[in-house]
Amino acid sequence: MYSIKQEAQRCLKCKKPQCSAHCPAATPIPEVMELFLSGEIKKAGEMLFINNPLSAVTSAICPHERNCTGHCVLGVKGEPVRFYAIEEYISRFFLETVELPHIEKNGIRVAVAGAGPAGITMTLLLLLHGYDVTLFEAQDAIGGVLRYGIPPFRLSRDLLDMYMDIMLRLGVNFRPNTRIGTNILIEDLFPDGYKAVFVSAGTGRPNKLGLIGETLGHVHFAVDYLKSPEAFKLGRRVAIVGAGNVAIDAARTAIRRAHSHVSILHFMGENEMTANRDEVEMAELEGVEFIHYAQTVRILPNAVRCVRVRRVEREDGSAAFEEDYSETFDVPADSVIIAIGQGPGADMNAAGVRLTQRGLLDVNEWGETDTPGVFAAGDIVSGPKTVIEAVAFTKKVFRKMDEYLKNT
Ligand SMILES: Cc1cc2nc3c(=O)[nH]c(=O)nc-3n(C[C@H](O)[C@H](O)[C@H](O)COP(=O)(O)OP(=O)(O)OC[C@H]3O[C@@H](n4cnc5c(N)ncnc54)[C@H](O)[C@@H]3O)c2cc1C
Repeated sequence: MYSIKQEAQRCLKCKKPQCSAHCPAATPIPEVMELFLSGEIKKAGEMLFINNPLSAVTSAICPHERNCTGHCVLGVKGEPVRFYAIEEYISRFFLETVELPHIEKNGIRVAVAGAGPAGITMTLLLLLHGYDVTLFEAQDAIGGVLRYGIPPFRLSRDLLDMYMDIMLRLGVNFRPNTRIGTNILIEDLFPDGYKAVFVSAGTGRPNKLGLIGETLGHVHFAVDYLKSPEAFKLGRRVAIVGAGNVAIDAARTAIRRAHSHVSILHFMGENEMTANRDEVEMAELEGVEFIHYAQTVRILPNAVRCVRVRRVEREDGSAAFEEDYSETFDVPADSVIIAIGQGPGADMNAAGVRLTQRGLLDVNEWGETDTPGVFAAGDIVSGPKTVIEAVAFTKKVFRKMDEYLKNT
């Protein structure tokens, strides 16, 4: 294992860096490495922050194998550079030591609805450009999934406190426990002098299976469980339906908190799992059992009934997955956790802007809705994605919003 400095020294500073090219936020990796190695750690931190205000977060939880690390040329024959570890170190140091500049206010009022990654990014960009920002958040603290979803053993909550502190120092008005679309509507904001509204409400509503047994008392949705695991009594055997990152987070949390035997039920094979490879590997190390090719068909008071799925090769080489109803089996479970995706909350129906068929906000490539002055980004427009994708699109939307606010 190399030290952070040795790791940075291994970087070849490629002319056409594939690591940057495959980062949704196009992080200028060779330039950051250069500054870091020449002792300019604060400048390196500033460069990262300006490019991606949430670099302290994304360096910890990005799917690195799909982005930077997965495309490092050194990885072709050997060990790729773990840029994320260097970035995490620099970005945390930056947050801990940042001296904020004095920003002249421009007197233009903007509302941000939702304080997850998209909302935090937009709020920081607006504040740094002199706007007067009110940040409305349905929960009592900022972070969105970063606070109420991703387990603390993967992401330290003190980072979110540092972001809150920076936003307060820059003059944000924070309205916690306030849900736009229920008590305050978007249309109520404009008469109070808000010139634009940015909606970043995420996709916090869990999808349901639609099966018999789903409303029983021992059945929970993963995103509800992850919000406050201490509120749940899971019992000795926990079955999780779904095999994405949310399922893995629920499984690893249940193992830690309830010391349960955790089984993950997945209707396809190991290679078709959508969860990050290293998260799956750690779940295996921690004792999570994976039951592949199992389609859940019913939830019983003490088990999950499954049908065996067969993998069938099609003529064109692709695979199909077919249920074989001649083979059913029950997986014993004191609790069942459902983790099969999320969608937008109902309050967006009252947002007064056009929605897509999936209930997401319908925006153009610049995040503009069909209501003048209302912009949106993050999972509420893309459906569940990643933090770095939410940040990258929010930056693009900021450019359009800034133009709108200054010229309208
Ligand atoms: C369990 C879990 C694990 C994940 N792990 C990873 C990972 O490891 N790496 C990764 O990159 N991505 C991960 N993701 C995905 C990532 O967290 C999301 O893509 C990202 O959080 C989206 O940011 P967002 O700001 O759009 O939404 P969110 O994070 O959902 O934030 C939305 C915010 O808006 C608030 N809100 C909702 N409705 C309203 C309203 N009407 N008015 C005011 N406020 C409102 C919510 O309370 C919330 O604070 C994970 C997701 C989950 C659920």
